[in-house]
Amino acid sequence: MKFTSTRDSNVHIDSKNALLKGISDEGGLFIPEEFPRLGEIETMLSMEYKELAYHILENLFTDFSSDELLECVNGAYNDVNFSNPHIAPIKKISDRYFVELHHGRTSAFKDMALSVFPYFVQTALKSSTDFEEIVILVATSGDTGKAALEGFKDINNIKITVLYPEDGVSSIQKRQMQTQEGDNTYVLGVVGNFDDCQTAVKEIFMNREFNRELNNQRIQLSSANSINVGRFLPQIVYYYSSYIDLVNAGEIANGEKVNIVVPTGNFGNILAAYYGMEMGLPINNLICASNDNNVLTEFLNEGVYNKNRDLILTTSPSMDVLVSSNVERFLYHMSNNDTKIVSSLMNELNESGSYEVSDEIKSNMNFVKAYYANEDEVNKKVLQTLEDEAYLIDTHTAVASVAYDKYLADTDDMTKTIIASTASPYKFTSDILKALSVEIDGMDDFEIMGRLSSFSSTEIPVNLSDLENKAIRFRDISSKDEILDRIKDFIGGDENA
Ligand SMILES: *Cc1c(COP(=O)(O)O)cnc(C)c1O
Repeated sequence: MKFTSTRDSNVHIDSKNALLKGISDEGGLFIPEEFPRLGEIETMLSMEYKELAYHILENLFTDFSSDELLECVNGAYNDVNFSNPHIAPIKKISDRYFVELHHGRTSAFKDMALSVFPYFVQTALKSSTDFEEIVILVATSGDTGKAALEGFKDINNIKITVLYPEDGVSSIQKRQMQTQEGDNTYVLGVVGNFDDCQTAVKEIFMNREFNRELNNQRIQLSSANSINVGRFLPQIVYYYSSYIDLVNAGEIANGEKVNIVVPTGNFGNILAAYYGMEMGLPINNLICASNDNNVLTEFLNEGVYNKNRDLILTTSPSMDVLVSSNVERFLYHMSNNDTKIVSSLMNELNESGSYEVSDEIKSNMNFVKAYYANEDEVNKKVLQTLEDEAYLIDTHTAVASVAYDKYLADTDDMTKTIIASTASPYKFTSDILKALSVEIDGMDDFEIMGRLSSFSSTEIPVNLSDLENKAIRFRDISSKDEILDRIKDFIGGDENA
């Protein structure tokens, strides 16, 4: 399997190089040159999560030896990194199935891929003749940053820097990052929103001079955002595991189609579901759920992508995104791999902030339905799900559940439906308690967690209650213009020490 670029069909590199580079030289994103067919689901029914991960990823990362890949998946999907033995357990709640993707070390679905991704990078680095060190640069809307920091902390020859929007993450998310341990970690708050952080990261990747300086020191810059193939491809696995769990539980017949609802920000998670579909998973429709930042709802329904609007800070901050990077990959597939179309649309987006796709692309995208939920609907959904079903969901998952209600109202589609539950409610405690009309005035973060626990009769994830005992290590805040200097200080500073 080789990887090519969404913007240049002459690119053919193996997965290790795609992992290390993160993004293609001309600015495109790497994609596998074809979708491998995985074969009969029957043969996967008895696999546990890490076996399934191995089975799926060996078809994509074919330049990994089987020993290398085994080490990666065994190191990632175990009881050290996941508090639930099923890794991604599935719960039937009323007429829908929630796949809980938040039992990893940082209580968000980003752990699903970021527990294995550092192993990929380490393995690729060992095979590299060009580089001795990797600097991982991450822009986060709250969850990726912490999951990446945990995954990469204290790994030899790798440094990691995370940029988060100073006022765009929850108080718990900020605390998770500010208390990060590890000698190779650096966390920087940015005055701006997530798109500012993401733009800064992209500019640093495209900064030839800076990259040359690093390369001369045999350092390679890479990313842990879902633009990296090592980040989004492992996300295919839990769509398979969910499907298999439903077959094994007798909820669906093998071969029966399902819908999948994904609360969406950067379009990585839902793209992984689409890849699963192309690789043989029986999927009817995908449902893309957005919050008030409903760029994607508009795009999928009308064919016009328009980021020219203010970003709204919502109670589902990990979805507060206007420029969803992985739409680029989706456009590539929906245009039948037309790199010219992708390049020109991405140029338009850069220059005017919007673009419109052709009727053909629009009709190809028709299996992805899109709905959004406003804040009021999200709050009601959190409350109603707890009251009626005794099930506590977080705000992002609530966005998805509202979107599914709207889809049902529109279609009467009876297809069994899986909703991606992407975070623990304990990362967004204040907003959840407000949705539940529970008074929290004057309480600190940890009192609020305790209140949510007693009110909902659920347990606080240990990684979050433990934050109370951890010292704050990172208080730096930077304007957009100073980001590169701060990063240089971090990379250089350590070298001289
Ligand atoms: C990142 C994130 C999302 C959005 O996922 P994308 O892959 O960026 O679309 C949704 N919910 C939560 C809790 C997240 O952390």
